[in-house]
Amino acid sequence: MFQDMVSKHWQSYYFHSIQYKTSFLENRMGKMSSSFRRMSISNDPLANNRWRDIRRLTDRDSIHLRNPNFEPGPENFEIIQQIRVLVIGAGGLGCELLKNLALCGFQHIEVIDMDTIDLSNLNRQFLFRESDIGKSKAEVAAAFVNERIEGCTVIPHNCRIEEKPPSFYRSFHIVVCGLDSVNARRWMNAMLCDLAQVNAMGEVEENTVIPMIDGGTEGFKGNARIVYPRMSACIDCTLDLYPPQMNFPLCTIAHTPRLPEHCVEYVKVIQWDELKPFQGADLDADNPNHVDWVFEKAMERSQQYDIRGVDRRLTQGVLKRIIPAVASTNAVIAASCSIEALKLATNIANNINNYLNFNDVDGVYCGTVEMGRNPECPTCNRRSEVISVSRTDLLKSFLENLVRAFNLSDNPSLTTGTGSIYEVSEFFPDIAERSKNNLNRPLGDLVSENSELLLSDISLKSSNSISIRVKFTD
Ligand SMILES: [Zn+2]
Repeated sequence: MFQDMVSKHWQSYYFHSIQYKTSFLENRMGKMSSSFRRMSISNDPLANNRWRDIRRLTDRDSIHLRNPNFEPGPENFEIIQQIRVLVIGAGGLGCELLKNLALCGFQHIEVIDMDTIDLSNLNRQFLFRESDIGKSKAEVAAAFVNERIEGCTVIPHNCRIEEKPPSFYRSFHIVVCGLDSVNARRWMNAMLCDLAQVNAMGEVEENTVIPMIDGGTEGFKGNARIVYPRMSACIDCTLDLYPPQMNFPLCTIAHTPRLPEHCVEYVKVIQWDELKPFQGADLDADNPNHVDWVFEKAMERSQQYDIRGVDRRLTQGVLKRIIPAVASTNAVIAASCSIEALKLATNIANNINNYLNFNDVDGVYCGTVEMGRNPECPTCNRRSEVISVSRTDLLKSFLENLVRAFNLSDNPSLTTGTGSIYEVSEFFPDIAERSKNNLNRPLGDLVSENSELLLSDISLKSSNSISIRVKFTD
């Protein structure tokens, strides 16, 4: 049921968003006789080109896997070529994603990554060569794909995701994330939830929903999932799926170590400061002498508690918080993400619903599970209230009206994405002072039309905030 809804949504979205498609398709379909369309793929004049295998999926009918909205035909491949895909991250997953998407026929791809290429990336990030060390990952990866796959244009952005405005993200049909940070994932998720508009009836405006396909790996484990912002479980709905960064309780490290990691942490957190080796220098995980010293002390401690498994490699891993990256896991997860993008674009098969787990620590396990939405999720349940005001209205009277309209306490706060407009707290005297000054300023000076404001107050349930957009009447 959900799948049907999403597929219809996607189709309608697609038809709205690429306006020339109707005429384009009519022309194309008009010229083709129906007998041509019934021909088997082996008689297709395109059968020998690079896209033969993809077109077997998009041109032919399928009995077992098909989505009810799938209509076989060459126009599906044209759609793939027109859709705009944004890839977040050009690292282990990102290299695989860019290669896969380009080889699926996607031609309009952009990629964001702020990192530069390091020697240790080269074993799995196969778009990079030794001569690329120190260069931007996004730029080198894009240049590689552009050079190799004719017709495909990958545009690189060597920056942080936070540096791009909402209008940039709004211009894509699908976002595929290959990130190694929970925070970056949450930021992207929140941006796409913000872009998904809710109408006055409380319904999601489907043509504003940009699906987010998210892949993640950790050693031999990985997952791929689809988020339809505000329609299905988002990253923040299921935040407890992400393990906290590897931090061990100090009491365990000090008194009841059980794991080899505990021994290394003990040396790092306690012994380094106590014994002050290397003339009291700060511990540098890149300095081999420091690592050797920690390794030696961690070995002593592990023998004391009869714990096995401390070696130099583990020591360095704990010190640098390295999670081993496994090329094969990246390949499986990126393949899954790319296939989901292909399915979204064409309806050739039902998308996963909605979270795929992969694990090959011991044998191979792969399965999907449906994550439910959290009705209290502050990210995907936030509604935007549009409020009409005059540019000359003072902040003071605007706040009074908000307090009345939403039954707030007498100390709400109003912030924008970049700073606060009104926030009175004893902890931030500077902001409180500026806030009080703002009370007698006209709204036209303080906020811009249609930008999102966050109204927060202790009296608001669930998320403690309401999103507001100001519409000026003058
Ligand atoms: Zn959510």
